[in-house]
Amino acid sequence: ASPRLVTARVAPLGARLVLALVEDRTRERRVEEVRRDFVANVSHELKTPVGAIRLLAETMGDAADDPEAVKRFADRMVTESDRLTKLVQQIIELSRLQADDPLEKPVPVHLDDVIETAVDTSSIDAAAKGISILVGGVPDLQVFGNERQVTAAISNLVSNAVSYSESDATVLVTTRVDDAMIDISVVDQGIGIPAEDLDRIFERFYRVDPARHRSTGGTGLGLSIVKHVAATHGGEVRVWSAEGQGSTFTLTLPQHFGAERKNEEDRP
Ligand code: ADP
Repeated sequence: ASPRLVTARVAPLGARLVLALVEDRTRERRVEEVRRDFVANVSHELKTPVGAIRLLAETMGDAADDPEAVKRFADRMVTESDRLTKLVQQIIELSRLQADDPLEKPVPVHLDDVIETAVDTSSIDAAAKGISILVGGVPDLQVFGNERQVTAAISNLVSNAVSYSESDATVLVTTRVDDAMIDISVVDQGIGIPAEDLDRIFERFYRVDPARHRSTGGTGLGLSIVKHVAATHGGEVRVWSAEGQGSTFTLTLPQHFGAERKNEEDRP
């Protein structure tokens, strides 16, 4: 029995037990609904690139005597395959996130290292568009949690900033400390997000402009990963954005004071 039911049983009124049961059922149903939606979305999202690759292969077969067309179709097949790979990786990342509790075996996570890895991950895409990524703020900060997850969150923010910026723009990754919390901001001068979409961009598979995403290779999962990591680490993620001016995503996480909490680092 869930702890909820035990509480209800010691209550004097049977009504509380009934209420608790009804609440549990409702919650169960909602969880089941979310799971079903997710599976439906995943299969839809997977079918799109697979269908495109199949169609391109068929068309390519018909164009065998036109080398330029073959090259064009081959390039598009590479793009679609990359998209498929990214999608599968992010789906795995998301289900891993949900399966393991990052605070089960938390470790001190050095933000300088995490930011360096996140910037490295986007450096090829940034260089291809002539985008500079600048890093600034407070050095030597630490948070407490799961390094892979924090890295995934910041990498997603940096990668979005690069994807949704025009050529030759600048992306800034900066940290600041406010009491016990650290703000990690990723600032871009890109296309921005329409006000009516701001509430929804953290939902799984939500994309502002699905057509545009076919070219940027977006999956619609990146920000839901960021939101999940923020929540499991006791933080939050906020966004400021104006169309045509750019966006600032701020991930706020509790600061870990390494030296003062040495014992926690030694925990098995
Ligand atoms: P994707 O993998 O498609 O980028 P995300 O979950 O990371 O998915 O982002 C969801 C949506 O938010 C995208 O549709 C994109 O339009 C918008 N978005 C995210 N980051 C930015 C940004 N830095 N600038 C403009 N739009 C963004």
